[in-house]
Amino acid sequence: MTTVAAFRILVVEDEPSIAENVVYALETEGLTAVAVSTGTEARERLVSSAFDLIVLDISLPDDNGLELCRWLRSRSSVPVIFVTARSSEIDRIVGLEIGGDDYVVKPFSPRELAARVKAVLRRTSPPQPPSRPSPPFEIDEARLRISYFGEPLDLTRYEFRILAILARRPGQVFSREKLMELAWEEPEASFDRTVDAHIKSLRGKLRARRPGVDPIVTHRGSGYALKDDW
Ligand code: CA
Repeated sequence: MTTVAAFRILVVEDEPSIAENVVYALETEGLTAVAVSTGTEARERLVSSAFDLIVLDISLPDDNGLELCRWLRSRSSVPVIFVTARSSEIDRIVGLEIGGDDYVVKPFSPRELAARVKAVLRRTSPPQPPSRPSPPFEIDEARLRISYFGEPLDLTRYEFRILAILARRPGQVFSREKLMELAWEEPEASFDRTVDAHIKSLRGKLRARRPGVDPIVTHRGSGYALKDDW
């Protein structure tokens, strides 16, 4: 059986409430979902990162989903599930060689869409050997950027350094002094509470991305570590 958690879905939908419900339904099924509201953003995302399936609204403010799919097909065979508000569009989706894998007509049930997404993924993804899920943090050393669940975080210089130190050694406890020594050029000019302040702001940024998940563990009296059991 293929584990679904590793699958990343791009949801291209300009109606915020629909996008939100779809993302929620997909994440409830254990998939990772990213939503964008315009064709331009969708193209940028598709060029810069890999997705396992696209949920694509046909009517976008700046683009047409069918055109977007045609453009996508010239570079990738990633599965596409179309979302349409008009049943008259179904003929074009099914009949023409646009290369969609399935479609839903608005109004639709997000749960049903999530079930279709899983069905298409099962059909199109070869079974993978069981493996440890990849850690949610990816450090891009060259660009001094850290991605969390596939999305780059907007970090200050010290937040980047602290998180990178923790993320390179998940589970290892770092004292405030050690973090300061590793992250600051002039540690003696800083104070313990500086580390606490940066950790606090980091936690805020991570929580904004994944409410309810706190990957930074406080070890009272000894320091901080990054969660290693995902
Ligand atoms: Ca629309």
